[in-house]
Amino acid sequence: MSTRDFIEKDYYAALGVAQDADAAAIKKAYRQLARDLHPDKNPGNADAEARFKDVSEAYDVLSDPKRRAEYDEARRLFGAGGAGARAGFPGGFPNNAGTGQPFDLGDLFGAAGGAGAGTRAGGGGGLGDLLGGLFGGGAAPGSARARSQAASGPARGQDVETEATLSFEEAVLGVTVPLRMQSPGTCPTCAGSGAKPGTSPHTCPVCQGAGVTSRSQGAFAFSEPCRNCRGSGQVVDDPCPTCTGSGVTTQTRTITVRIPAGVKDGQRIRLAGKGAPGRRGGPAGDLFVVVHVAEHELFGRNGSDLTLSVPITFGEATLGTTLTVPTLDGNVSLRVPAGTASGQTLRVRGRGVPGKGRTGDLLVTVEVAVPKRVSAVAEQAIKTLEAELGDPRPRITAAVSGGGAR
Ligand SMILES: [Zn+2]
Ligand SMILES: [Zn+2]
Repeated sequence: MSTRDFIEKDYYAALGVAQDADAAAIKKAYRQLARDLHPDKNPGNADAEARFKDVSEAYDVLSDPKRRAEYDEARRLFGAGGAGARAGFPGGFPNNAGTGQPFDLGDLFGAAGGAGAGTRAGGGGGLGDLLGGLFGGGAAPGSARARSQAASGPARGQDVETEATLSFEEAVLGVTVPLRMQSPGTCPTCAGSGAKPGTSPHTCPVCQGAGVTSRSQGAFAFSEPCRNCRGSGQVVDDPCPTCTGSGVTTQTRTITVRIPAGVKDGQRIRLAGKGAPGRRGGPAGDLFVVVHVAEHELFGRNGSDLTLSVPITFGEATLGTTLTVPTLDGNVSLRVPAGTASGQTLRVRGRGVPGKGRTGDLLVTVEVAVPKRVSAVAEQAIKTLEAELGDPRPRITAAVSGGGAR
């Protein structure tokens, strides 16, 4: 909310309360309106939505005693709010406005600072800010003019953010995905001019294309956005039927996006120039895609390495074997040396996640599978084997009782 809003908006009218309404009455009015106008209760009703915002803004200010006092003072100084403030300062101005006397801005700051010192933290600072939004030209940086020039020049399109959910393989190997996006875009009917096809916008005769007009009020000259062209500097006689003259429509676009190999879950990828189109010849914004990567039933990921757990038998671990293990794009042979321990990790170079520079490895962790139940024959065979192999050393019992027992 700018201080300019303080002058132009009638918060009391927005809430339908008197200017001397007490805090309880303001709260009551706000609650009732907020209930009635709530977007959940008025789906798709732009008018209700706009009023809901106005009411919320009004309550924000009027429910805060300090801000309410500032608001009241701004209205007292600069008019009664609403259209009055825009048309000048009807009767709301202290002393010599309109008398033709040179007006000393210092007086204004001084008077206002004195009158409102108790309600403002910074004395004249708040008022200077207020004036900054109001006056064009020399009194304050010519904000109205600066804004209007920026508004009529080329404007870069908005950045757009969207999400894409990828399978594990897609994230590792890279994928091209179509993304459907809704964003404001250049109206296809009028190519953004806002004018009905066959016609074209012409320079606003009121402001000669500047987008601002100057008005003299007593000794003041101040600028305000041109009301004829609403600050754009251009007038459209026959508005485009598709966009009703705004030059912008909400468009659903499907764009094809190449997601590079090796993206991680949660990563935000920037695709330059794939956002909303620019206006009046400006460049397009950027598209940011937040990727979500699904889990894989077999593989895990550790940076650019893929991880995989493979069960092997006691016999395979003891005597060695060659396994065929899956990769994301096929199979690979893996030599398990004799005497491999359970939990040991073996590396298959270059079969991990492709990426810039180094491609990762596939890290295969072998786990010796232990059967839950065995047949009588197997049990006998295992006992025979145990007797043959002997106890592994050290055993904890041996280590603890060590000295005396043996
Ligand atoms: Zn159009
Ligand atoms: Zn104009």
